[in-house]
Order: sequence, then C-alpha cells, then structure tokens
Amino acid sequence: MPDCIFCQIIKGQLPSAKIYEDERVISFLDINPVNPGHTLVIPKAHYKTIFELPEEELIACMKVAQKIAGAVFKGTNAAGLNFIQNNLRPAGQHVDHIHFHLIPRFPQDNFYTSWPGKPYPQGELEKLAKKIIGCF
Ligand code: 5GP
Ligand code: ZN
Repeated sequence: MPDCIFCQIIKGQLPSAKIYEDERVISFLDINPVNPGHTLVIPKAHYKTIFELPEEELIACMKVAQKIAGAVFKGTNAAGLNFIQNNLRPAGQHVDHIHFHLIPRFPQDNFYTSWPGKPYPQGELEKLAKKIIGCF
C-alpha cells in the first residue's frame, strides 16, 4: 500500500527503531510513546483491521508479540504492560495498517488503569449476548 506509513517502514523507505523482523512480522518502537519502550508489532502484509486479518497472520503476530512483551517488560524495568489493538477511528485507530501496541506501564504514569464501565439496563445484557452469538 504505497500511502501507508507502516508499509513504507517495512520496505525501509522510512526509518524505524526495529526490535524484531521475520518473514511475516516486524516490530519497532512507537515514535510517540505512551511510555519509553512502547512497541508496535505488525504483520508485513497490509490489512486494515482485525476483521480482515487472516488467521495465520494473527497467529504469527501473537507469537512474536508474546516474546516481545517479555523483552519490553524486562528491558524497560516496567511494573506492568498493556497489550492493545485499536480498530477504526472511533476506537482510536490512526494508522490503517493493523498493529498491536505493547505499552510498558509504571505507577502513576497517567495512562489509564480502569475505564468508565456502565451497567446494563435490566435484561439488556442477556439480549445483547444472544444477538452477538447470532452474528458468528
Ligand atoms: P493507533 O492510534 O492507530 O492505534 O496507533 C498508531 C501508532 O503509530 C501511534 O501510537 C503513533 O505514535 C505511531 N506512529 C505513527 N506514525 C509513526 C511512524 O512513522 N513511526 C513509528 N515508529 N510510529 C508511528
Ligand atoms: Zn500498510
């Protein structure tokens, strides 16, 4: 995808602080990290979101991400780590080449530790579970 920043990084047309590379997967430091050591893991093939990503690409990314998570955790002396993946603009996706964030966490680092959960109205939880099951 010629206009894609991450495809350009993969091809070496844009610089990156590379952490890992194999035939399917590449990983590099995020240029604008939540915390130092914030790392991205991406498939080399261009897919936009989790919805299109083939299973074998997902598995390859997950295997690499688990290894890199341990290295990032150790290498940054982190106290915790978030593994996050955003899909589409309302969910905070700004680069349209699927990527997995590994974010080392530290006490009082001002990133979230909980999100604003909202309880369901009576009966809605069961209804929605059924609707989602109907969409498999
Ligand atoms: P998203 O918001 O799409 O889930 O995350 C995109 C991430 O890509 C952001 O955290 C952003 O800092 C990072 N990013 C955007 N452009 C570049 C770039 O050119 N190089 C690197 N290394 N990271 C980038
Ligand atoms: Zn791309």
